[in-house]
Amino acid sequence: MQLMEERIRKDGVVREGNVLKVDAFLNHQMDIGLFNEMGKEFFRLFGGENVTKIVTIEASGIGIACVTAQYFGVPVVFAKKSESKNLDGDVYTSSVASFTHNKVYDIRISKKYLDEHDRILLIDDFLAKGNALLGLLDVCQQSGAVVVGAGIAIEKGFQEGGQLLRKRGLRVESLAIVDRMDSGGALTFRPQ
Ligand code: 5GP
Repeated sequence: MQLMEERIRKDGVVREGNVLKVDAFLNHQMDIGLFNEMGKEFFRLFGGENVTKIVTIEASGIGIACVTAQYFGVPVVFAKKSESKNLDGDVYTSSVASFTHNKVYDIRISKKYLDEHDRILLIDDFLAKGNALLGLLDVCQQSGAVVVGAGIAIEKGFQEGGQLLRKRGLRVESLAIVDRMDSGGALTFRPQ
């Protein structure tokens, strides 16, 4: 998606440790006009899949998922990272190793909100090593639902997540794939 690549070039900042900061439009301040275009594009890609729910993970996936869900006309369910008294009853759960925070955390979704009749689109902001998406896939599959694919804002193509998930048969559509970033800030995108 041309618009996403242009925005990353304009406002993205390359940080140590292969981290791309996009706080100016995605991860802290959110450009809703851009989110709208992302939602439209995800609908163009997955609109024929009879999606019944969009599933994401807190916190950064939620905004993108909500705007996207307006195009699909379906609810958003987000996986929670912390145990909550509000989350009563049974949950689907999985462990996720965090790329940016260097720790392992559990994610959980109440069994009330996913079942075997659902057709799920996963949405997230970044795909790096693939752990977040693998965790989401795991909780969705525990419910018996069909996962039709994953819509990702930015994939770091030089990390293994994209290949890993596609090899497992998941349809992964990323709006921009960064194949290289060097410490001087230069970015190379995969032609799409
Ligand atoms: P993964 O589980 O695929 O290794 O990483 C995915 C999660 O880590 C995303 O949900 C995102 O929050 C975070 N993440 C991974 N790499 C980056 C990065 O380069 N920049 C930012 N801002 N977040 C990242």
